[in-house]
Amino acid sequence: MPDLPPELPTELIEALSDARRVVALTGSGISAESGVPTFREAQTGLWARYDPQELATPEAFARDPELVWKWYAWRRGLVGRALPNAGHTALADVERSVPEFCLVTQNVDGLHQQAGSDHVVELHGNLLRSRCPVENVTVEPDGADHLPPLCPNCGSPLRPDVVWFGEALPATELEAASEAARSCDLFLSVGTSGLVYPAASLPYEALESRATVVEINPDRTPLSPHADFSLRGRAEEILPRLVGATFG
Ligand code: NAD
Repeated sequence: MPDLPPELPTELIEALSDARRVVALTGSGISAESGVPTFREAQTGLWARYDPQELATPEAFARDPELVWKWYAWRRGLVGRALPNAGHTALADVERSVPEFCLVTQNVDGLHQQAGSDHVVELHGNLLRSRCPVENVTVEPDGADHLPPLCPNCGSPLRPDVVWFGEALPATELEAASEAARSCDLFLSVGTSGLVYPAASLPYEALESRATVVEINPDRTPLSPHADFSLRGRAEEILPRLVGATFG
């Protein structure tokens, strides 16, 4: 499918208007305008010299937990100040406008929930939560001022409740996402490079089940030639237009 011009195709508006089950898969691009940098953007300030792939791993945490926690403290600060943008809000509007909706996100920033989305599957966890790796439960840190923070129950060093590179995704969330992708009639892939698996396989599961697959991204991705509609642009611009044209 060639890149589409800025105007939205009538066939796309009809497909969304007729759809009974819609799934959206989002990646870090949808939060870029909210001030949460994508991994592939240059890191800024103190963190510019670190590759996220060397910080967001179990090996990095084992090697230097304090450094990894300082990086997460910086990212928690960014996320804490961020507000949902028009792209997040438009997806919450889609949820209210179609009979069944599932939002599958690779993001760890909680901005979809802040924007009013209810049915959210977090594939990679949530940056704002902490987890005890010994008891494998999410907990509130003990409140004392040290890094890494400690589990209030067993005193073990806590970790952020996110999926790191090289770790398995939570099975329940992955199965829910896969089931939603296989049973939807329209699948939106928004702001994701399509390079991080297994999330990147979800649009292909939807294509195999004959869903209409729509991509929204300023850049081409490996999904672009396979999508029924490949909209070249920013989520915060295209999604509100699509929602307005379909449900407005
Ligand atoms: P990615 O960094 O690999 O790709 C981001 C994609 O977003 C790119 O294809 C880019 O062209 C596109 N993009 C940039 N600005 C956009 C905009 N305004 N509208 C639409 N698209 C835009 O991100 P990914 O595919 O999500 O995968 C990387 C991993 O990074 C994920 O596992 C995710 O958990 C993690 N991550 C999450 C956050 C967050 O929670 N906000 C931030 C950084 C990284």
